[in-house]
Amino acid sequence: MPDLAERYARVKATLPAGVKLVAVSKTRSVDEIRALYDLGQRAFGENYPQELREKAPQLPSDIEWHFIGHLQRSNVKHVLPLAHLVHGVDSESLLDEIDKRAVARPAEVLLQVHIAQEETKHGFLVPEIQTLWSGAALDQRWPRIRFRGLMGMATNTTDTQTIVGEFRRLKGLFDEMQGPIGFDTLSMGMSGDAPLAIAEGSTLIRIGSAIFGARS
Ligand SMILES: *Cc1c(COP(=O)(O)O)cnc(C)c1O
Repeated sequence: MPDLAERYARVKATLPAGVKLVAVSKTRSVDEIRALYDLGQRAFGENYPQELREKAPQLPSDIEWHFIGHLQRSNVKHVLPLAHLVHGVDSESLLDEIDKRAVARPAEVLLQVHIAQEETKHGFLVPEIQTLWSGAALDQRWPRIRFRGLMGMATNTTDTQTIVGEFRRLKGLFDEMQGPIGFDTLSMGMSGDAPLAIAEGSTLIRIGSAIFGARS
C-alpha cells in the first residue's frame, strides 16, 4: 500500500500550474496533518467548526485553513478568525452574519452553487445566484466580505458525462459573474473527480482520501 508521501506526490503530479491543492483533513488526527505539513503542504480544509477549533491551535500557525463544510450562522464567529477562505456560503442570511462578524479583517468567501442532482448538496440555485449578482451591489450590501469566487460539488456518480456537464455549468457561471469585483477562485474537484474538474477550468481542488487514504 502506498504511503502518505507517495500518495501526496501522485496527487501533486496531476496538478497543472495555477491549480491550488487544498488537503481535506476532516476526521484526520493532528499527527496525520503534521506529517503532510512536513512534506510541504500548507493549505488544509476542514468541514466541522469544532474540529477546526481543536486542531488549529495545535498545529503550525502558517497553515492556511479552508472551511469547506456547511456553515451554520451560530458558528460564523468561531470559524472566521481561523479561516483563510470560507468555501460553502450558501444563503443571504449567512452572508449577513459573516459581514457582521468580519471585524478584524474582511472575510474571504466563495459562494456555493448547487450543481448536483442530489437533494443533499447545499448551495444557491443558479437562478438565485444570478439574481443576487449585480456587480458592485454585492460590495455595498456586504462591505466586509471579499467575494473570491464559486464552489461546487458534482453529483456522486460514475457517469462522467453528468459530472462534466455540472462542472461546465459552474465554470460558465463563474465566467458570467466575472465583473468589476473580479473572481479568482473556482473551487471544484475532489478525489474522485479532480481530473475532470481541472479539465473544465477548476483553480482549486479539495482532496482528502487520495492523499490521506480512505476515511473510516
Ligand atoms: C470531504 C470533502 C472533500 C474531500 O473528499 P475526498 O473524496 O476525500 O477527496 C472535498 N470537498 C468537500 C466539500 C468535502 O466535504
